[in-house]
Amino acid sequence: MKCSLVTGGSRGIGRAICIKMAQMGYYVLINYKSNVEEAEKTLTQIRQEGGNGELIRFDVSAKEDIQRSLGGWIKTNEDKYIEVLVNNAGIKEDALMMWMNDEQWENVIRTSLDGFFYVTRLVLNGMLLKKYGRIINIASLSGLKGLPGQTNYSAAKAGVIGATKALAQEVGRRGITVNAVAPGFIKTDMIEGLDEKTLQKMIPVNRFGLPEEVAHAVGFLASKEAAYITAEVLSINGGLYS
Ligand code: NDP
Repeated sequence: MKCSLVTGGSRGIGRAICIKMAQMGYYVLINYKSNVEEAEKTLTQIRQEGGNGELIRFDVSAKEDIQRSLGGWIKTNEDKYIEVLVNNAGIKEDALMMWMNDEQWENVIRTSLDGFFYVTRLVLNGMLLKKYGRIINIASLSGLKGLPGQTNYSAAKAGVIGATKALAQEVGRRGITVNAVAPGFIKTDMIEGLDEKTLQKMIPVNRFGLPEEVAHAVGFLASKEAAYITAEVLSINGGLYS
């Protein structure tokens, strides 16, 4: 059975990606950290459209949790194989660096960067054996440009971009592509409170983006036909930065 694992699939961009994966015929592993009600809504939506999947809870910032939960799933599901991995789970804890505390730095780095490493290393083995895989990492405009108040988040996302390019070169010969997408402002819980009316003036397309618009790009990079695109970072920001 063809499976796709989406970390942080309970809400926002991750939910839209889960639905896209299901539309592409994948059995979707919907990861979440704590919001089981929202994760169940993602699964219900997938089933309503005729797809299927299951919830898999683990905290991407805790390597033992990943090993126990995802490692356990891989062991007990030898008949299944994760063909597409989308490293989407992420948080932001903004503060100017002068006032950023240790926890704010560590939480954000652990979630985006350590999460990428520990989840991907586990899933990679199956892809290497099957000589096929698609890995898509959700980075950010912040990781390309750097944004004030986000030294932690910019560092984490820039780290993910570097790792994307390095891993792509390690596994290209084995039929595995590794790409990143870098969204700008996308309407989800993460940017709640930002004033679209003011900020949209800086965006050539003149609005915030939708989770489905990110999911569309992820679906493209996850397709078989995108086999010759790897080590790439695709911006999805309405022209805000290139
Ligand atoms: P949301 O805050 O809407 O959703 C975050 C998702 O990540 C939830 O499903 C949440 O699970 C999950 N999550 C958070 N921490 C963990 C963890 N430690 N382990 C497992 N799952 C976790 O965020 P978005 O949808 O906006 O963001 C998705 C990705 O896109 C992130 O990587 C973010 O950095 C990136 N991004 C977002 C932009 C935006 O404008 N929205 C712009 C650029 C990048 P739960 O529901 O259980 O809490």
